Amino acid sequence: MNIYYKNRSVWHPRAGRFLITLLALVLCAACNLQPDHRDTTHSPDDPVHLSGQAQGTYYSVIYYDSLQRDLQPQIDSLLDAFDLSASLWVDSSLLRRINANLTDTLDDILLTLLTNSLLIEDYTGGAFNCRVGRIVQAWGFSFKQRSEPDGAELAAMLQAAHAPVAVDGRRLTRQNPATELDFNAIAQGYASDLVGLFLESRGIHNYLVDIGGEVVARGAKADGSPWRVGIERPAENRYSEPVVQTTIAVGDQSVVTSGSYRKYYERNGTKYSHTIDPATGRPVTHSLLSATVVEHPCWLADAMATAYMVMGLERGKAFIAAHPDGPGTHAVLFLYDSCGTLASYATPAFEQLIIK
Ligand code: AMP
Ligand code: MG
Repeated sequence: MNIYYKNRSVWHPRAGRFLITLLALVLCAACNLQPDHRDTTHSPDDPVHLSGQAQGTYYSVIYYDSLQRDLQPQIDSLLDAFDLSASLWVDSSLLRRINANLTDTLDDILLTLLTNSLLIEDYTGGAFNCRVGRIVQAWGFSFKQRSEPDGAELAAMLQAAHAPVAVDGRRLTRQNPATELDFNAIAQGYASDLVGLFLESRGIHNYLVDIGGEVVARGAKADGSPWRVGIERPAENRYSEPVVQTTIAVGDQSVVTSGSYRKYYERNGTKYSHTIDPATGRPVTHSLLSATVVEHPCWLADAMATAYMVMGLERGKAFIAAHPDGPGTHAVLFLYDSCGTLASYATPAFEQLIIK
């Protein structure tokens, strides 16, 4: 979870090769919408604040618009359309139908999520894997009851998670029909990107979009100061109140935190995280509590934060050292050290963002 404030940003050239063009998609989503509604009760310099529910979580959008337009209906429509495509909690979503082998034709959203996921799987050496759908369900972190797979079931699900998928045009083919896709590690970040791009399409270039803690910052606040985003201190448990550990200034970038401290279940004193290690098919058990990544676009920050949660501290540090110019170098990882004390590892690039 991230708690904001935030700042002005610039396109990250190194991330450009990962960006699938989304603008056309957002413009299409906006085509069918009602004309913009204007609020005449505020000064043109006041920020517009919107908030609501989407994807089973909250969202909050702040933007500067001299026309003081209320774009909530359009944003709600965009997020509803997103859920109908990519949500695993909506029974009739296209992704649920694809996973059930009822159709094999992807829409723009799923095509982008799949393409980006496969790129990140390759980049992270398999730590990120969107084909773990069945495994996530079996461990009880999706829309199905936990079944705690035995060895043979796990082996079959691992086989499905590593079987290749291919896309020809929009048509998906699976070598193993049991392979189920799960984009939860990247979807909220991508939805945040789409909301940002929708605002851009309306001529709004100074905004902060937050969908369940996946934050996109663009431009600056009215006084020119950067947006500020608070990074949450990993909580004791899922019921703890959020506490800001570090505050960073961000430019045209996104901030995403993945953590095991709120999304887990406990059995016989062991906490099972919702992050699955694709190598074993089991929830990760290392001591990493959270990983925060600052990147652009937001889906990339989201994907890399999840990948670090799979890698853990030592593998994560080795990965960052081996990819000094790649996505994921602005990161902070929190963990309990061997004495049970909260410790963190921040990359030098991340440290430069911290507001002291
Ligand atoms: P996040 O909160 O962004 O780290 O996403 C976690 C969610 O992504 C989980 O609840 C699963 O649905 C899915 N997931 C779990 N393990 C992986 C993995 N290794 N690669 C990709 N997605 C995963
Ligand atoms: Mg993620």
